[in-house]
Amino acid sequence: MNQYDAIVIGAGLGGLSCAARLSALGYRTAVFESHTLPGGFATEFTRKGYTFDVSLHGVGGLEEGSFGRLLKDCNADQRIVPLRKKHPYSIRWEGQNIDIPSDVQEYVQLLKNMFPAEVAAIDSLFAGIRRFETGFSAFSSLTSWRRAAGLLKAGTFFRWTQMTTWEAVSQFGLSDRFTEFFTALWAYYGLPPKRLAAVYFFIPWIGYHMEGTYYIEGGAQALSNALVDAIKSAGGEVHLRSQVSEIMLERGKAAGVRLKKGDVYKANWIVSGISPHHTYGRLLENYDAARRELEAVSSLETGTSLTQLYLGLSCEPHKLGITEEDLILRNEPDSETDYEVMMSGQYTKGNWMLTNYNAMDPKLNEPGKGVIAITFLDRLENWPAARPEYKAKKEAVTEQILGCLEQLYPGFRSKVVVAELGTPRTMQRYTANPDGAVYGYAQTVRQSGIKRLKHKSAVDRLSLVGAWTQPGGGFQGAMNSGIMEADRIAAKLG
Ligand SMILES: Cc1cc2nc3c(=O)[nH]c(=O)nc-3n(C[C@H](O)[C@H](O)[C@H](O)COP(=O)(O)OP(=O)(O)OC[C@H]3O[C@@H](n4cnc5c(N)ncnc54)[C@H](O)[C@@H]3O)c2cc1C
Repeated sequence: MNQYDAIVIGAGLGGLSCAARLSALGYRTAVFESHTLPGGFATEFTRKGYTFDVSLHGVGGLEEGSFGRLLKDCNADQRIVPLRKKHPYSIRWEGQNIDIPSDVQEYVQLLKNMFPAEVAAIDSLFAGIRRFETGFSAFSSLTSWRRAAGLLKAGTFFRWTQMTTWEAVSQFGLSDRFTEFFTALWAYYGLPPKRLAAVYFFIPWIGYHMEGTYYIEGGAQALSNALVDAIKSAGGEVHLRSQVSEIMLERGKAAGVRLKKGDVYKANWIVSGISPHHTYGRLLENYDAARRELEAVSSLETGTSLTQLYLGLSCEPHKLGITEEDLILRNEPDSETDYEVMMSGQYTKGNWMLTNYNAMDPKLNEPGKGVIAITFLDRLENWPAARPEYKAKKEAVTEQILGCLEQLYPGFRSKVVVAELGTPRTMQRYTANPDGAVYGYAQTVRQSGIKRLKHKSAVDRLSLVGAWTQPGGGFQGAMNSGIMEADRIAAKLG
């Protein structure tokens, strides 16, 4: 029977979490996904016998922490194996590789040893982060009868929601050099600290430093598969190779979807886990109100994309001297300059992240096979649309990166068996996200918190979830969006 309580379009983490939560709450739910695998960005691919995780580098708070709670809400927590990382990340800083300790007190001590003139200001910063954390938890667990008390405690949190990451750190009188070191992970959130909203830096920071940093056994695909299992075990369905071409309306309300191959499925509620641009622009193109919405959603600032070089090696990375799990290779000390050079395609002048998958999950590939990835911020305009030029640029950029790696790790080149470059065009082609954006809208102060796109759409009984919507991008943001909206839909459906 083609009739459901809810239909979800797109099996990215937002869509899958929404479907898993609705299924866990007892609603008959079906997901339709264009691709052959579930997960959107949270997926994998294989080349010459090597398995490559497309996106996961790390998440905070997998076991008893905030991410673990999201998995419980989806009934997926028992379906994955968390792998605790030794360090949240490591950083090549002024020629030396520094491991960031996973224990917060040790981290504070490291900072004080490195910046002895700023000891008092470092204490003030960490006291501020603790107030932010208390405020954030109070805000997140607000129930109506505790609202007043919760709001009082949430003061620092609310103040920081109006700040950039840079403003939040430098309010304690810390030097620029300290702030650059402390915020080095900014590239994972898509904008340099002077533009990145403080909430998008500090909420994951709390997860990473206070709740533990994790990888998942089997990588991002294992997480997506766990959500699919949770949906199916609760009686839901996940249809792959099923591109939705139209959202159907009845008396102004969303009532079903039509697939590209022609089949029609009906539901009491439709959830779109794809970009709002495609939801309004392609799936609702015959609907007048959607045209106005398309203009509104297209006028917001789109976030950055990433380029990632996936490398399969004929030896394990430690044999080449790569021992860290996640290493920020810092060539450019100034984050604004770093961002500008990356956005203008001068990749060898900026900073990269090196991820060592063998160190995070030794079982992802057979013993003796090495897998690493080099990641940096990028944008679609840096990549020509015409196929021959695009291919030539991919080869040239791959060569540049391999040249730099050879200098850092002599003998590296001779070990390369697979070198596959995923560019913003690749990200766009596989997920249909405009400009290959990986975190949806830019995570600025103006596009954060309640100012970010809401889940409730312009069409009755149609919801939007995923990185473009509240609370934001990344694994945790996308999953949170799906769960928050599933709870609202459940309350509406009764
Ligand atoms: C290289 C890389 C590294 C990253 N590293 C991290 C990290 O370490 N930690 C972290 O937290 N985040 C990371 N991210 C970001 C994170 O992966 C994304 O923000 C998040 O997965 C987005 O989820 P989403 O729900 O918005 O859906 P998306 O992943 O955008 O998926 C949307 C899905 O909808 C499908 N779809 C589109 N149109 C249709 C249609 N018409 N019909 C049916 N299906 C359709 C697509 O095929 C896709 O499967 C990374 C991303 C990349 C690319």
